[in-house]
Amino acid sequence: MPDTDVLVRDGRISAVGKDILDHADTVVDGCGLYLTPGIIDMHVHSTWDGSAISEDLDEMYGSYQAFLRSVLNVEATLKHGVTTIREVGSPHDISVETAWAMEHGYIKGCRIIPCGSAIQSIYGHVPSIGTIANTKDELLYAIRAKKALFVKKGIRCQWIKIMDTGGAAGLEDIGPSMYDLDQLSFIVHEAHRLHMKVAVHAVSQEGIIECIRAGIDTIEHGPDIPDEYLDMMKEKNLTLVPTLAIYKLLSEGKGVLSDFMVNRSLLVTQQQRSTFARARAKGVRIALGTDAGSPLFGPHPVAFKEMTVMEEYGMPADEIITSATETAAEVLGIDNEIGSIEAGKLADFDVLSENPYKKITAFTENLVSVYLGGELIH
Ligand SMILES: [Zn+2]
Repeated sequence: MPDTDVLVRDGRISAVGKDILDHADTVVDGCGLYLTPGIIDMHVHSTWDGSAISEDLDEMYGSYQAFLRSVLNVEATLKHGVTTIREVGSPHDISVETAWAMEHGYIKGCRIIPCGSAIQSIYGHVPSIGTIANTKDELLYAIRAKKALFVKKGIRCQWIKIMDTGGAAGLEDIGPSMYDLDQLSFIVHEAHRLHMKVAVHAVSQEGIIECIRAGIDTIEHGPDIPDEYLDMMKEKNLTLVPTLAIYKLLSEGKGVLSDFMVNRSLLVTQQQRSTFARARAKGVRIALGTDAGSPLFGPHPVAFKEMTVMEEYGMPADEIITSATETAAEVLGIDNEIGSIEAGKLADFDVLSENPYKKITAFTENLVSVYLGGELIH
């Protein structure tokens, strides 16, 4: 929208339109600049730092250092224009503490939707960030313990994360679904009943299919989805969070990583290209998520690396920005608060000196300032 003013009061947008400047005490001149909603990353690990050994740091240095890394990472995330993250796995539910510290003004980081540690079976994926639960009874306990923690810490937007297959980055077997369909359906039923939503790490096709059949709200990674299950995702209103950039990066690691890892990442990357294109063509909801913090990904935030790969795989810039703002907010269930520049919503903005619809890298190369709740951060 050209020549538009945005009036902010008490951290929220109170009006958007022309000729509303008379109501303002302070005016920020944005002539020649572009205002976008703050960017949302649906898949972040805040205690990991994106170095080669990031997944090992939690066990090497313990929880206090992990919490500190989480704080530093969410502060850097905000400063660079990512104003909200969903944190999908940290040891000992640390992300819940980081979210609490942020909400109470102890730290100046992005908004955090924390899943705490990720529920997984004994045959888990990154057990250092896991809550282990094998049987239905254990699952019930784990889910209700998360609920109790969220309530105690005042977390309003409540998500749990489960790990349902191995990962593609390490030497582990990606393998079958760790939970059977009955258990996965039980998880969804119990979480939804308690007004929580579920994210699932799913990389193998057999695992992904079980998660879609169970109706898990967001399928994380989901590289290899047959057409009929993309149709089922659409029918059930499920969302794909594709995390394209990390696998592309690993697939280009020849000479640095083992041939085994490079080859497996190459395969995942090929599957992702196809699934991403087919999901888009079918109108399956896609929200931007990165796996920020993962080994070799580099420092937080990495949402803008993901945007570049989404564009390379055929998504136009306006769709990419929507997937990282409006769509992400909708999926999170807080589109009444964030995700667009509309009266009543929180005043989270990025200000750019180039039009991101024409140049998606404007978020990194032309970031002028960042606002969170109307406050100038950077
Ligand atoms: Zn992850």
